[in-house]
Amino acid sequence: MNMHHLLHQDPEIWDLFTRKEEYSNPRRDPYDRFPYYACRDLNIFEPRASQYLITHGYSCDYPDNAPFAVCLTHDIDRVYTSLHTKRQSALRSLKRGRPLQSFHSIARMRSKKLPLCNFSDIMGLEEKYGATSTFFFLAEKPGEQAYTYTIEDLEPEIGRIIDHGGEVGLHGGHTAYLDAQEMKEKKERLEKVTCKPVKGYRNHYLRFRVPDTWECLSSAGFQYDTTFGYADCFGFRNGMCHPFRPFNLTTNRTIDIQEIPLTVMDRTMDQPYMGLDSRKWEAIKMLVDRIAACNGVFTVLWHNVSMEGENLKLYEKILRYCHDRKAWMTNGEGISQFFLDKTDTYLS
Ligand SMILES: [Zn+2]
Repeated sequence: MNMHHLLHQDPEIWDLFTRKEEYSNPRRDPYDRFPYYACRDLNIFEPRASQYLITHGYSCDYPDNAPFAVCLTHDIDRVYTSLHTKRQSALRSLKRGRPLQSFHSIARMRSKKLPLCNFSDIMGLEEKYGATSTFFFLAEKPGEQAYTYTIEDLEPEIGRIIDHGGEVGLHGGHTAYLDAQEMKEKKERLEKVTCKPVKGYRNHYLRFRVPDTWECLSSAGFQYDTTFGYADCFGFRNGMCHPFRPFNLTTNRTIDIQEIPLTVMDRTMDQPYMGLDSRKWEAIKMLVDRIAACNGVFTVLWHNVSMEGENLKLYEKILRYCHDRKAWMTNGEGISQFFLDKTDTYLS
């Protein structure tokens, strides 16, 4: 029996798995996202659909008998730190009558380096724990809302990530989540830089619409997506902590895309969302332990700009804890391929 047939046997689990309420509930936040606070059932801290599968005989034999897996990802929204700040201070200097020096410093800033290209540091840290990760890059054009860098400028950095065994995926901009053509064009543009097929996707701001975004991703030719989670709360949006094929309740058909559900994004734990402050670690540990108990995948989004201070310490704590628990820690492509190879029991 495949996964959908199994889940379909319990109507409540099936409704949760397919996110039936999102088809009829018109509530959206300012980014057109269905928010956690609008959910009928606020208990998303238990992976109930995955628990149901495990109770009914589903299992995953991860490499090296790992009890669970970790999918590490980073969204690269910015690679320049203080250009904006510099520009502001230049304007202030201009008002004070020192234009030349100020514009000089902007030019230097532009040509110098990309201070947030800390990808080697991130990979080095992950390597200490036997892990690798996915970096999702924007391929926006000047004038588009999410544009902050030109992807072709990052060719050397992207080459280093790939040479190092990391994965490069597409981070779709503000309008891509409902536009298959845009996804496809940006995928092709990124592929000119990676010189290999781009398989993975995540949308900026976790903008996502059930089931339309999955349909777009499928037409654009992606292998997997890992956007599906709430920006305003961590947990299990459809009760799953295993990758799955989504089911479209309008067409009554399986969608040809694999979803690796997102468990936690770094910013979700801050204000204005969960505001967990000092309780972050406790909360993350609870999620990891629940995922481990059902042989699932813990998917983490940690931005490259969150790799300092307390955020960096917390990220390393996650790596250490999962490593000590003998988890298989890899990137989206690794997780995706592993589950695709399990077609006998897993996919519809
Ligand atoms: Zn983003």
